[in-house]
Amino acid sequence: MTSTAPRTEPDCLFCRIVAGGLPADVVATSERAIAFRDINPQAPVHVLVVPRDHHGDIAQLAAADPALLADVVALADEVAGEQADGQFRLIFNSGPRAGQSVFHVHGHVIAGAELGWTPA
Ligand code: IMP
Repeated sequence: MTSTAPRTEPDCLFCRIVAGGLPADVVATSERAIAFRDINPQAPVHVLVVPRDHHGDIAQLAAADPALLADVVALADEVAGEQADGQFRLIFNSGPRAGQSVFHVHGHVIAGAELGWTPA
């Protein structure tokens, strides 16, 4: 539990969404994370789960605040239960060569279809 304002980076797209300064299709929230639809969906359900605090990637988040990473996973599970059948893939791209383009950690909740395995 925290009542302090989230730690933010001024030029971060997802910090601006968290703060309400940019529109997003929010599907679920918790005290420390929010979930909104990806603007370029790759599956019937494609939702980004984002901690309100700014951390660059999943490794940085896990090192700095493992309880917050657990909150992100719990919100992803909630989204998959509400938006699909509760089964989901949770992807964290980490680094540009892995496909990360927004450097505020986010889990991609992919669900709502039979998923093949095509990582490359
Ligand atoms: P990454 O490539 O793993 O960093 O994922 C970034 C994701 O953010 C991509 O799937 C984009 O489609 C998505 N995205 C970028 N801008 C927005 C936005 O303003 N709203 C929702 N999703 C966004």
